[in-house]
Amino acid sequence: SQSVAYDYVIVGAGTSGLVIANRLSELNLTIAVIEAGDSVLNNVNVSSPNGYGLAFDTAIDWAYQTTNQTYGGQVQQTLRAGKAIGGTSTINGMAYTRAEDIQIDAWETLGNQGWNWETLLPYYKKSQTLQIPSDDQTAAGATYNATFNGFGGPLKIGWKSDMDTSNVHTILNDTYAALGVQWNQDVNGGRMVGYNRYPSEIDVTLNVREDAGRAYYYPIANRTNLHLYSNTVAQKLRWKADALSPTADGVEVLAENSTTPYVISATREVILSAGALGSPLLLELSGVGNPTILNRYNISTVVDLPTVGENLQDQTNTGLIWNTAGNKSYTASGGYVAYPTAADIFGSRVANVSADILASLPAYAEKVATASGNITKAKDLLSFFTMQHNLIFSGEHAVPVAEVLLTPSGNVVDTEYWALLPFARGSIHISSATAGAPATINPNYYMLGWDVTSQFETANFIRRIMATAPFSSLVADETKPGLDVVPANSTQEEWFKWNAGAYRSNFHPVATAAMMPREIGGVVDAKLKVYGTENVRVVDASVLPLQVCGHLVSTLYAVAERAADLIKNDL
Ligand code: FAD
Repeated sequence: SQSVAYDYVIVGAGTSGLVIANRLSELNLTIAVIEAGDSVLNNVNVSSPNGYGLAFDTAIDWAYQTTNQTYGGQVQQTLRAGKAIGGTSTINGMAYTRAEDIQIDAWETLGNQGWNWETLLPYYKKSQTLQIPSDDQTAAGATYNATFNGFGGPLKIGWKSDMDTSNVHTILNDTYAALGVQWNQDVNGGRMVGYNRYPSEIDVTLNVREDAGRAYYYPIANRTNLHLYSNTVAQKLRWKADALSPTADGVEVLAENSTTPYVISATREVILSAGALGSPLLLELSGVGNPTILNRYNISTVVDLPTVGENLQDQTNTGLIWNTAGNKSYTASGGYVAYPTAADIFGSRVANVSADILASLPAYAEKVATASGNITKAKDLLSFFTMQHNLIFSGEHAVPVAEVLLTPSGNVVDTEYWALLPFARGSIHISSATAGAPATINPNYYMLGWDVTSQFETANFIRRIMATAPFSSLVADETKPGLDVVPANSTQEEWFKWNAGAYRSNFHPVATAAMMPREIGGVVDAKLKVYGTENVRVVDASVLPLQVCGHLVSTLYAVAERAADLIKNDL
């Protein structure tokens, strides 16, 4: 065993953890980072800008399994997450889209003082260096508003060098306009609704994926006050013996190929950045959580905080495919996204749908509360749901309700889509006192009527895109699912029979250690400190209290940048 002590010990060298490590090690402080995975700097499954999926089910994919999904077709789903220096940013889709401004403002409305779009925007910008698109790319829709973007941060954002600059862009733009979805010059300025060609996390010069390792760690890896322990799994926190209230003084770890745990000591704080499917488990293994669950595994309760691991929110992703007209083949990178509103998706029915869903919210809240064993409270859930309903259906400034990615690729036009704001909530909990044992993960996909309806109507919207001129001239017949499997004008039930076997997780789990007041089920406060502890914080996707409409990493980098300043301010 070793005896090593640092001012701060960070668990997880992932998307968020490396931001904290970078920013804290700017000061005269000693920092340790504990990471289960290894360097992937030379792994082409990671670096290839168009290599999405290559890393799946390899050694750097945790590939967590859910429980059988009661409402989601009685199937288990795989929740992918990166096990590497850089975390999930090393295996993700590299899409860089943020959130709707009022959706971040909702965090403050929930009681998180200081968290709103205006305070977060400077941190989105601080994290980012936007690489300027070429003239051809600009003409094909790679546009941005300089006031919303940063040009001096660690994370390189840009458009792929093989981006399709053909007339597909103008054809699609005209098609969306015909469907009421207008061009959006910059999807990252807090207003996401519309059609856009989003940028990616990419180093344009090197033509490689820009993951958190490349952005935040390798450029500063030679700092002598920063030590990264790779191939090392955190087991649990160690608590200071003589403290009046729970104070972590280290993390028990196990190096790969060793059976002897040792402790890496922390003199100031321990920061958990193990991801939304990692950090809540470490809290439970350390005695912070629901005493009923902890007792089951003979873990003594250090802090009675029953909502640890609750409030899990994810989305579901389905794909539809068409053949290209004339069997035309496309080779360039797509990057065509649309963020329609509920009005775009439901058309003239939107007011009725809004009223129906509003009337359903008390029943939704009861159902979610009951599923959690009333650990989350129906009255709190009803207030979150009402807030979310407002975001979705408030006509003047509604958030997008779905993401539609459309990619001409080879001889097909591929689409992936997900309803952005399901109401379902699930949970993640330990199923053993042994660190690293599989957890019980239940996202409750399709638990509520809205979750099914919003996915179904998005599929119908995509069929309308394909049937609308001028884009209709680029596609031939639908091959997935195909009209023989799901006929035009199918009922939701008919469609769901197919969808239940076709969907996957959208890999956006959040809120498992939600930042909210403790009285309404929060796990961390507005400084990201775990309630009931003196010096433990969580900084990763676990703390987002509500799902956001963008892809997650842009917002996680911004949250971690702001968290680093909050930690420094506490010094
Ligand atoms: P992570 O980046 O996952 O970091 C957690 C780290 O902790 C990991 O390195 C892990 O190995 C480590 N760890 C966990 N447990 C332990 C332990 N006990 N001991 C030591 N280390 C531990 N977002 C986008 O913005 N754009 C996209 O295109 C996109 N596509 C996605 C595609 C896929 C397949 C997936 C899975 C996700 C995608 N996302 C995307 C989501 C986004 O990548 C993640 O939400 C984000 O990277 C999570 O960051 P994090 O800091 O919360 O955790």
